[in-house]
Amino acid sequence: MKNLSISCVPSLSEEKLRQLILDTYSRPPACHIHTYGCAQNVSDSEKIMGILSGCGYVFTDKPENADLIVLNTCAVRENAHDRVFGNLGIFKKLKEQKGDLIICVCGCMTQQQQVVDTIKESYKYVDIVFGTYGAKMLPDMIYKVMTEKSRVLHLYSEGDLISEEMKQYRSDKVRASVPIMYGCNNFCSYCIVPYVRGRERSREVSAVCDEVKQLVENGCKEITLLGQNVNSYGYGFTSLLEKINAIDGDFRIRFLSSHPKDAGKELIDAILSLDKVCKHLHLPVQSGNDEILKKMNRHYTAQDYLDIVDYARSKDPDFSFTTDIIVGFPGETYEQFCDTKKLLHRVKFDNIFSYVYSKRSGTKAAELEDNVSDKQKGLLLRELLDEQRVITEDWLKRFVGKTLTVLPTEKGRTGENRLSGKSDENIIVEFDGGERLINTFVKVKIIKSMNWALLGEVL
Ligand code: SF4
Repeated sequence: MKNLSISCVPSLSEEKLRQLILDTYSRPPACHIHTYGCAQNVSDSEKIMGILSGCGYVFTDKPENADLIVLNTCAVRENAHDRVFGNLGIFKKLKEQKGDLIICVCGCMTQQQQVVDTIKESYKYVDIVFGTYGAKMLPDMIYKVMTEKSRVLHLYSEGDLISEEMKQYRSDKVRASVPIMYGCNNFCSYCIVPYVRGRERSREVSAVCDEVKQLVENGCKEITLLGQNVNSYGYGFTSLLEKINAIDGDFRIRFLSSHPKDAGKELIDAILSLDKVCKHLHLPVQSGNDEILKKMNRHYTAQDYLDIVDYARSKDPDFSFTTDIIVGFPGETYEQFCDTKKLLHRVKFDNIFSYVYSKRSGTKAAELEDNVSDKQKGLLLRELLDEQRVITEDWLKRFVGKTLTVLPTEKGRTGENRLSGKSDENIIVEFDGGERLINTFVKVKIIKSMNWALLGEVL
């Protein structure tokens, strides 16, 4: 494993761009950033915003008010891919109205040469393209577009670098994500991530802990540690959890995502013994059928998965699991799909995130015949969700009469005075309370369960 922090002091190119911006605009220029996909992409966008903010940009939700539009793309599913090209069509009109508008496309999609080629040939109004490694070069790229009126289309491949200089711009001061590693070594057969985000690189323990300390000192209440597979964090994940748990302050710790082949008793023990770590595990199972799991290159069986669940429930019968599931994998029969349904009933997840299989060129699964029609995939997805709705409704009842710790973050959906937030178990809880309780930890006694949330009252 090679971890290398680069010491490019960003101020040089940022300073040049900041001066150019002062000379060009009579007000701070506005940037609209649109993020597709996962929590890692949201975190990357916060880094891009950190860089742009340092150059003098402010941010707007309205693309029509922007001087710079950034699309941070996702390559994991085809529909996100299609939406990017759809949105580019809309932004073309804005560019026609406002000639000096700069349009930038970055992220996982543009880490693929064929996408860069398509944009180069067919989307000539896009000014800047870079993949998952080029963010720190953005001030240089904008400078070049502004001064030379030329396009900058780059496919960087500095996959072994971690830059500690790119600070995240965090609009949410209460909940923050902290990447602990980048990339993935697992090559699940359906997944494009290892190809577009490179091999695993872990941040130093001290860098992660310093960032968490700073966030907590600034009032952050919920830290989510991010990685494609946090359990293979290079310096020991449970040891990192222990160190973060020891940081002074009133905050809680979540993490995303775990891989069942690397998550075991040690992880469950850490979750249950460390007081700041939330009592919840998001553990993507993807399928309940061993043959499909093998074709997915997941390196565990349904029984291995159940062993983790059983161990957790033997220690805490209420232990909360959520998961990801893919339906309609190439060659999946209805019987194999039914094994996934059986697993849902056996585990009793609090929530599932299910997707239809989406073929991604360049992956191993793309070589298999995708013989499940779109219509069939849609029907399977509906069947799975209907099944899970019943399970969730029933399983959430275990919390009625119990007291949960909730971090309310917004107004609720179920009544005038209701607040809404997540419990440690990652379950939505609504309760009556004044807005002064927002962003504070509240002990809530659960009085009712619904099929998507719990209802409670402040103790
Ligand atoms: S663990 Fe598998 S699904 Fe997750 S990012 Fe890596 S290759 Fe993709």
